[in-house]
Amino acid sequence: MTHVEILKKHNLKATPQRLSILNTLEMYGHVTLEEIEKYTKVNFPTLSLSTIYRNINEMIKKNVVSEVKITNSKDYFEINKEKHAHLICKECGKIEDFKIDTQDIVKNIQSLTNDKIIDATLNFEVICKECLSGK
Ligand SMILES: [Zn+2]
Ligand SMILES: [Zn+2]
Repeated sequence: MTHVEILKKHNLKATPQRLSILNTLEMYGHVTLEEIEKYTKVNFPTLSLSTIYRNINEMIKKNVVSEVKITNSKDYFEINKEKHAHLICKECGKIEDFKIDTQDIVKNIQSLTNDKIIDATLNFEVICKECLSGK
């Protein structure tokens, strides 16, 4: 699906601003608000941080974009996709997707508690292979 189709499917107008934000997310994977501003500035010099923020929030509400919560870090954003875990490098800060079925883990823990589990966020702190090899 193209970004235009994704936006339409979620009843959002495919404005050039939203498309530019989605392109940035697609290209860089996980980005902060400030980084999105930096990258979208190239094509949209007048796009303000507050406009970007508003657009991102609208896309979060419609499940087009999701927030990546990382302890002691700024919020990152990514295009919504299948549930996955994140590997976060302690040295260089790189965030990598790690495909894992979080549902299995949720089911497992759900069987051990009487609380109702709503959602799970799985982050792993790592030293990435580039940092390990000293590159
Ligand atoms: Zn690293
Ligand atoms: Zn991710």
